[in-house]
Amino acid sequence: MGRTFEIAQIKGISIKLHWSFFLLILFFGKWFFFVAAVFFFVTMHELAHSFVARKFGIDVRDITLYPIGGIASMSKLPQKPYQEFLISIAGPLSNLAFIVIFFFPMKAFLGSNMLYASLKYIAAGYFVPYNFKFVVGQIYWINLLLALFNLLPAFPMDGGRVFRSILTTKLGFYKATKIAVNFGHFFALIFGYIGFSKGRFLLLVIAIFIFISASEELFIAKMMEKAKSMNNNLV
Ligand SMILES: [Zn+2]
Repeated sequence: MGRTFEIAQIKGISIKLHWSFFLLILFFGKWFFFVAAVFFFVTMHELAHSFVARKFGIDVRDITLYPIGGIASMSKLPQKPYQEFLISIAGPLSNLAFIVIFFFPMKAFLGSNMLYASLKYIAAGYFVPYNFKFVVGQIYWINLLLALFNLLPAFPMDGGRVFRSILTTKLGFYKATKIAVNFGHFFALIFGYIGFSKGRFLLLVIAIFIFISASEELFIAKMMEKAKSMNNNLV
């Protein structure tokens, strides 16, 4: 996936920046504080996944930060559906926890009007550096966007994994993956359509990323199905 640069080590997990991250600094260079804050929250999100994964004996060596999120590379897939469920939901929950814990302090600092106005802008996809407090408000709400976006029940988002883990208990791993992948393709097409018709370039990039990643998940599931049937034949 190209060059990465290690920026920190947290509890034995190497935090790496992907080179394309520097494109983000190029675009938002004036608001370095904003970019740094986004990456702080993405890192927190990935660490939450990683710490829960470790509880289940899955090793996480590094977290790579991309402009549209992070990826924790895990040594193996969770064995049980409930493990996948807990690992996947931990990320979005960490962002939601941040929103809940800091809600009243933020309200006291910004005042209700500014707090909700900053949500309105950031939810519409606009970052407006109107003044310092407004920037802080928008940074705070990024957590809500991260949580909600990742909870979409579609691969490759966390919500897709949560969705699959629930379906797996009823339909088995392969069928469950197929359904979650179909949802991923569906959301990718919707994002692609909106991105294209409204000229939102970033949304178009996200749509393509979702489509390809969802397809990869199906490929992995197919390989695992094949390996399983080969093992069965051997036995
Ligand atoms: Zn996540």
